[in-house]
Amino acid sequence: MLDVDVLIVGAGPAGTAAGIALARAGRSALAIDKATFPRDKICGDGLTTGALRRLDELGVDPGRIPSWMPVNEVVVRPPYGAARRFSLPRDNGLYAAVATRRDIDAALVDAARKEGVDIREGSALLALTTDDDGVTAEVGGVGVVRARYGIAADGMWSPSRKLLGVGLEGYRGDWHAFRQYVEGVSGVAATELVVFFEQDFLPGYFWSFPLPDGRANIGFGIQRGGTHSIQDMKALWTDILARPHVKELLGPDVKPVEPHRAWPIPCRTGDVPLAAGRVLFVGDAAAVCDVMTGEGIGQALQTGMMAAHHINSSWHDAAAVAAGYESEVMTELGPDHRMSSLLVRALKHRKGASIALAIAATNDWTRRNFIRWLFEDSPRGIAYRPALWRRGALSGPGAYRD
Ligand SMILES: Cc1cc2nc3c(=O)[nH]c(=O)nc-3n(C[C@H](O)[C@H](O)[C@H](O)COP(=O)(O)OP(=O)(O)OC[C@H]3O[C@@H](n4cnc5c(N)ncnc54)[C@H](O)[C@@H]3O)c2cc1C
Repeated sequence: MLDVDVLIVGAGPAGTAAGIALARAGRSALAIDKATFPRDKICGDGLTTGALRRLDELGVDPGRIPSWMPVNEVVVRPPYGAARRFSLPRDNGLYAAVATRRDIDAALVDAARKEGVDIREGSALLALTTDDDGVTAEVGGVGVVRARYGIAADGMWSPSRKLLGVGLEGYRGDWHAFRQYVEGVSGVAATELVVFFEQDFLPGYFWSFPLPDGRANIGFGIQRGGTHSIQDMKALWTDILARPHVKELLGPDVKPVEPHRAWPIPCRTGDVPLAAGRVLFVGDAAAVCDVMTGEGIGQALQTGMMAAHHINSSWHDAAAVAAGYESEVMTELGPDHRMSSLLVRALKHRKGASIALAIAATNDWTRRNFIRWLFEDSPRGIAYRPALWRRGALSGPGAYRD
């Protein structure tokens, strides 16, 4: 039997971030993942300022990531009217980037190993229980593992959640999104982040995120239960790619690199349990993606680090660990979630989305602050947390300033 301080299920962004934070605090951490890295994860590969700051803090070196693509310009096309361009600051660090999940997640696994986290790849969780003193797991290829605490970082379908019998009955995510890698991209889409709000699937959107050498990650997301069903998505994708403005954006030589793939996005901060006994749920397993943009890498890193912090600081008191973690997640991500939910309601209406973007693009000040507001850590909740203004939420530096 393996005996460790903390067992982490899943070595994606949430699990590796938790592992690194625990190892730095001197705890023994075992992270298991059923996959072998580098592995793909269906994602837009977009890294916000919050995600970048945390990758920086966790020791991920962009110089070692082949697909790393810094981004300074964002183009947003409203349902009505012309596309608008927004510039991110070019000095004082990096505010947005794109990198494939194959590369980013493998880099996080490397960074975690360097910090001393024991990572077992190709090792699936088979059974999990929690009791007064710890957690016990059965892991394929590893055997029985006993730990004082467990961190469930095992994604949208979290087997840990199922094995412990917690979670929302029948929950299948709030969004469903298609992703496809393409090559031969020219023009704006080769270097800039592009988001098109299309009239027929609001509040969903089409994206094109640039990768090096004329490649891009393109895709679209729709709200579950909205105007289109999940079954419609394949036909809708063919239709979207044939739209003149999409064809013009990607250029005449674009071609798919791999078949498209789809995956749900969970956005239920506070509804899906954050703790069960001595197990804390982080990242997609805690359903903490942003309900407006669908981004979740930054939140996965953040909740992973938060869980590690509370385990470490309240080590002898499991109830305090769970309460502290739940309270911090709701304080940090709850307001963001409420604000994004409001914005989603506005974006559902064609006119609302167009007017909002027109206001955002009124002058240099609104353009600069709108885009920083979209890309910062948890700034959308600012309306609910005036204290953040005093701390200068929209004037902080980016990541990788060295
Ligand atoms: C189409 C799409 C586009 C997206 N675009 C973006 C974007 O551009 N930017 C952004 O920030 N977010 C985006 N997201 C959200 C983002 O992908 C997730 O929020 C993020 O991956 C969550 O990280 P995680 O570590 O919680 O989970 P994951 O990355 O899903 O990692 C979970 C890990 O658990 C492992 N696992 C699962 N079951 C077991 C088991 N039984 N035993 C052991 N291990 C197991 C898996 O192999 C996996 O490695 C997108 C999501 C989708 C679906």
